[in-house]
This record gives sequence, C-alpha cells and structure tokens, in this order.
Amino acid sequence: MSKKVLVLGEVREGSLRNVTFEAIAAAKTVSGGGEVVGVLLTDSVGGNGEEMLKYGADRVVTVEHPHLKQYTSDGFGQAFMAVSEQEKPEAIVFGHTALGKDLSPKIASKMQAGLISDVTAIEGEGDDAVFVRPIYSGKAFEKVKVKDGVLFFTIRPNNIQPLEKDDSRSGDVSSVSVEITNLRTIIKEVVRKSTEGVDLSEAKVVVAGGRGVKSADGFAPLKELADVLGGAVGASRGACDADYCDYSLQIGQTGKVVTPDLYIAAGISGAIQHLAGMSNSKVIVAINKDPEANIFKVADYGIVGDLFEVIPMLTEEFKKL
Ligand code: FAD
Repeated sequence: MSKKVLVLGEVREGSLRNVTFEAIAAAKTVSGGGEVVGVLLTDSVGGNGEEMLKYGADRVVTVEHPHLKQYTSDGFGQAFMAVSEQEKPEAIVFGHTALGKDLSPKIASKMQAGLISDVTAIEGEGDDAVFVRPIYSGKAFEKVKVKDGVLFFTIRPNNIQPLEKDDSRSGDVSSVSVEITNLRTIIKEVVRKSTEGVDLSEAKVVVAGGRGVKSADGFAPLKELADVLGGAVGASRGACDADYCDYSLQIGQTGKVVTPDLYIAAGISGAIQHLAGMSNSKVIVAINKDPEANIFKVADYGIVGDLFEVIPMLTEEFKKL
C-alpha cells in the first residue's frame, strides 16, 4: 500500500540541516510510491521549501509564525499537529536530533501512534520495511516492523544516504495558518557557546580527546587536525569532567551520538558509556599510550603512542594531501 509520509524539516540559523535530506530519503523508502510531504515550522521559510523539493519531497507545507523562531515543544507541537490533522499522513519521519527526540514522543502520544526512535538503517521498502535500531547502548541491534497504525520513526543523523540534489525538481509549497496559544515556555534569549566550525552531530570527521589530552590547551593539536580534515572536535566525559572542554562536546551515552565517516579517538580509554556514542562510526582510529586500552577493541586502526607526538604528525601528513 502506498503511504503519504510527512517529513519534518529542521532549520538551523536559516538553513536546513542535512538530517532533513536523509529523512526525505527514508520517507521515499517507506512510502511505497506514495506522496512525501515536507513540513517546515519556522518564523521565516525563505528558500527552504524549494530546497526540500530538490532533495526529493513531492510537496511542502509550511507554518510561519513568530513563536516558531525558537523551538519549544508546545509551539512546534501545536503547529505540527495542525499540519498532521490537515494532511492525515500514514507515516511520519523526524531526525533523531535534540529537537526530534523532544518532539516525537509528544506527537506520537497525541496521535496515539507507536514510535521507532533512533533508526540507523531501513531494510526493504514500502510495507515490507524493517527498521534497525541500536539497543543496550549500541551493543546490539533490534529489527522492528510496524503492523498497523501510523508509522512514526526518527532517524539517526549520518546513517541514511540522502538522494542526489536535483535542481530541476519543483512542486507545491503551501502554507497553513495556525494559532499558537498557551505556550508554557517562551524563549527570551539564546546564549550560544562559541562552537564555531562544523556541527559535531553531523560532522563527517570527528577528532575526539579524552583525559589523556591533560588540559584545555591539550585540545589545540586536536582542533588543528580537525580543521585540516574539515571535521569537528569532540570529547569524552572524562575530558569534560576535568574541565578541559565544554560539555557540549561530550560524546557517549549521556552526550551526543555521532556516526562520522572517520572518528579519531585520542587519549580516550574506551569506556562502554563512551562507545555508546561513537561505535557506529564508519572508520575508527584510536591513539592511546596503553596497548591494552579498551578503545582498541572497536578501532579499525590503532596507534599505540603519545597523542602529542602522533596527532601533529598526522596533521602534517594530511596537510600534504
Ligand atoms: P580515562 O578513562 O582516564 O582514559 C584516558 C586514556 O588516555 C587512558 O586510556 C590513557 O592510557 C590515555 N592516555 C593518557 N595520556 C595519553 C597520551 N599522552 N597519549 C595517548 N593516550 C594517553 N563517558 C563518556 O565519554 N561519555 C558519556 O556519555 C558518558 N556517560 C556516562 C554515564 C554514566 C552513568 C557513567 C557512570 C559514566 C559515563 N561516562 C561517560 C564516563 C565513562 O565511564 C568514563 O569514565 C569516561 O569515558 C573516561 O574518559 P576518558 O577515556 O577520557 O578517561
């Protein structure tokens, strides 16, 4: 049976996040040839509706409202429910991002739908689609199939290949007017940590440091390597707890989950809680002085050595490429 699928587009600082394009590809896989409808909830849509069409959405519905400038679960919940009541989808896809993790259970409970969260792969298509998701902090994977009701799932960023952008694609971008009332939270100001550069959750390369980095200054060579590779810097909780870096860089069970093409772990022992956030990375390189360190068990390439010697050498070699 073909399905109408709603895909929530995530806008950050005026632009769509990559996970939106991955969600459109996931929607196409499950739609069985049905319509894929992008949904944009924002204070200013700009050209993002057309961008979703170029990545494969058949049509886009937007809600523009001043209360949607910043995310609140009440505001976005009301706006999404209004679109959903109008469109009556058979399936819904969100990114498994901070926003998606907060909003999806709220919407699922309002719709009395189930929710498959943190999907890393989809096997099969249409009604035969089976959803793969990590369990037990990434130690195992379960496969889930939905028998009835609205199919609602969130996808982990960087796991599902987006479709090629096709500039010739076009379609209808229409708006829905929604009254947003009774907000229990009003965002008055957003104070951002200065995390210039690549977004950690979506980075293709992550250079992460642990307690072995030994100080805040010790992160400088990691930052240089990340810059040369066009990547982002991450950290273990050990490094965050020691105040070497900000908690926004923490990767793991209680931090961010990342799936880059290349993860370089420097001075990180490889505690299970850290592995939960990075073990699905495509290629893992571990640098550690201790040949028995647990991180080597998940590494594709291991370098036993002092990170302060190894990292600058890698940086110099990559600069030559
Ligand atoms: P350590 O375990 O101290 O390891 C440092 C490593 O650096 C060692 O292997 C050492 O050999 C190596 N090293 C030292 N100097 C050098 C050098 N010069 N060159 C190369 N190698 C060197 N941790 C997370 O990371 N993320 C989480 O989300 C997380 N959540 C948690 C949740 C709970 C409920 C609990 C209980 C713990 C959690 N932890 C988490 C903490 C986790 O258990 C570990 O304590 C933490 O990951 C250790 O950080 P580390 O590897 O940097 O430090």
